[in-house]
Amino acid sequence: MPETGLHVELLYNTPEPEKACAAAARQCYSTRGASELMDALTDEEATRLIRQVVKSGHHSVLEHASFTFAAEGISRACTHQLVRHRLASYSQQSQRYVKAKDFNYIVPASVKAKGKEKQFTDFMAAAAALYAELGEAGVDKEDARFVLPNACETKIVITMNCRELLHFFEKRTCTRAQWEIRALANEMLKLCKEKAPVIFGDAGAACVSRLECREGKMSCGRWKSIKGARLVE
Ligand SMILES: Cc1cc2nc3c(=O)[nH]c(=O)nc-3n(C[C@H](O)[C@H](O)[C@H](O)COP(=O)(O)OP(=O)(O)OC[C@H]3O[C@@H](n4cnc5c(N)ncnc54)[C@H](O)[C@@H]3O)c2cc1C
Repeated sequence: MPETGLHVELLYNTPEPEKACAAAARQCYSTRGASELMDALTDEEATRLIRQVVKSGHHSVLEHASFTFAAEGISRACTHQLVRHRLASYSQQSQRYVKAKDFNYIVPASVKAKGKEKQFTDFMAAAAALYAELGEAGVDKEDARFVLPNACETKIVITMNCRELLHFFEKRTCTRAQWEIRALANEMLKLCKEKAPVIFGDAGAACVSRLECREGKMSCGRWKSIKGARLVE
């Protein structure tokens, strides 16, 4: 029953995501079809079109490209927050069908920093023992899982289109977001930037992407270090 940590991989993305979105944008104002336009689009034109789309806020064309990620070593506490983002698709390891015997778990850094790691891991061991005992007594996995903690590791596949990703990054790379979902969002953003550097060039928390922080008194103050950013109260 070991401790584990976050691992995120990009499983798949729309091929040429920026060209696909740029062709869709151009087709809105053209007599020609998107396929013909996509063939004729140069990288420079695609870049210019995407910059225009992002700046103008006409983000619906960014829905034509999607990214699919596999996240492992992530807690149930984190995925509970993740799946609140509704404009996405998820497939998560089932605690009804997958036996959680000797489950992996995530230990928050704060627990270690406060010297409570032993109590934490003892509690995980106790939960695992009770889970096993319930199973041996004939309790179904779907009911035995009620004793599993939020720290329990899960695996989840996530698909979001680029518009939703920009929104997700705005909410979840912000320092106001909880540390684990923030780490997940930052990993996903890094992977997106490699494949679509123009779409995601200015992506991030609102202080980065919109140059404004709306967190009021709860603001971390990061906006002060970003040129042109302001606090909106
Ligand atoms: C720092 C932080 C703290 C939070 N704390 C809490 C908390 O204490 N309790 C709690 O319950 N939640 C909390 N949340 C979750 C939050 O309330 C949202 O459920 C979550 O962030 C999903 O965001 P969303 O609804 O904007 O986006 P998504 O579901 O990702 O949707 C994207 C956008 O699509 C549009 N949209 C989606 N669905 C609809 C709809 N049905 N109707 C109209 N428009 C729609 C909206 O414009 C929405 O912003 C917190 C989130 C953050 C980032």
